[in-house]
Order: sequence, then C-alpha cells, then structure tokens
Amino acid sequence: MTPEQLHRVIVTVADAVIDHADELTALDQAIGDGDHGLNMKRGFDAVRADAALLAAKPLPEALGAIGLQLVMKIGGASGPLYGTLLMAMGKAISPDGANIAAAFAGGVAAVKARGKSQPGQKTMLDVLVPIEAALSAGAPDLPHRLPAIAQAAAEATVPMEATRGRASFLGARSIGHMDPGACSSALITAAVCRALGD
Ligand code: ADP
Ligand code: MG
Ligand code: MG
Repeated sequence: MTPEQLHRVIVTVADAVIDHADELTALDQAIGDGDHGLNMKRGFDAVRADAALLAAKPLPEALGAIGLQLVMKIGGASGPLYGTLLMAMGKAISPDGANIAAAFAGGVAAVKARGKSQPGQKTMLDVLVPIEAALSAGAPDLPHRLPAIAQAAAEATVPMEATRGRASFLGARSIGHMDPGACSSALITAAVCRALGD
C-alpha cells in the first residue's frame, strides 16, 4: 500500500464515521446510552486531523498509531475495542499489507479477549467475525463483496438479544434494533473498500 492509498483510506473512513455520527447515536439511543456516534466522531476527528502524519508511517506503525488515537479519544466500550483491533493488526501486519487476512484475524482475536465476547452477543464482533471469515476464504473480488457481507452481518444483529455491553441491560428489549457497534463496523468496512477500490 502506498502512502497515498493509506491516506485515502484514513480520510474516507474518518469522513464516513463523521457523516454517520447521528445515525450511530440514534441506534445507541435505542439500546444503549446514546453516545456511540459522538464517541466515534471524537476519535475519527482526531485521526482525520493527523491523516497526513499517519499515512507517512509504515503500515504497521500507522495502524498502531491510529489504534492508540482511538483508545485515547473515543472512550466508552468501543474505543478500547476498536483501538485493540487496530493495535493488534499493526503488530501482525507486514509493511506491504499482504497478510491482511491473518493480521485481521489476530485483531479480532484481541477484541474477543479484551471484550470477553464472542459473535452472537449482538456486538461489533457479529460484523468483524464474518469479515474475518471472508478475508481468510480469500474470495475473488473481495473489495466489491465485503461491504454487502458486512451490511448483511450488521442487519443480522437486529433480531439478536444482547448479552454483552450496555444493550445487555435491556435483555429481550434489545431485540429489534441494530447494534450500534455492528453498524459502525459495517460502515468502516464499506469505506475501506471504497477507498481501496477507487
Ligand atoms: P458505551 O457502550 O460504553 O457507551 P459505545 O456506545 O461507544 O460505548 O459502543 C457501544 C458498542 O460497543 C456496542 O454497540 C457493541 O457493538 C460494542 N461493545 C460493547 N461491549 C462489547 C464487548 N464486550 N465486546 C464486543 N463489543 C462490545
Ligand atoms: Mg454508548
Ligand atoms: Mg457510553
């Protein structure tokens, strides 16, 4: 990945999160404390402001630095989890990004450990794990197919009952709403694919 490509990914992802902050907040108002959009916007405003600096770093260091920004700025449950995902990916990925599937799998394993969570609990993992599976299956034309895979996975959280995170306090009343973190994971996935595909 060239610094230009990395810059485009960072800016496209940050803009997507910032543009969808209200939608993420509305989802979190339904089954959480209504701050997911604001939390994510705070983190990605900081990342966007540093985009040029971040994109100039080798890929492993860039991912680690973005993860650290997210941990420091987002707060809530999602900050440490997204931060962990990126910092673990940064440790595993090669400078050319060729081992993205293995690096992403390492990141997802770190999220599971940090969150003490698994797919099926109505969290971001319900999107991250299907993405991990698609990456390791190495289907052709992945950048074009991943957004739909991620979106379908986010929609599949609607009928789930949350058993992790704040939404679990609602028990069965969490059923019928998309998980905010699943939604943000899907929109970040779509933005990464868009930036790499253009
Ligand atoms: P908070 O719940 O602290 O207000 P956010 O609203 O920013 O934090 O993020 C909530 C999202 O974090 C949830 O929608 C869910 O996807 C994710 N989440 C929360 N707890 C966990 C966990 N233990 N494992 C995985 N994801 C989690
Ligand atoms: Mg919240
Ligand atoms: Mg909160």
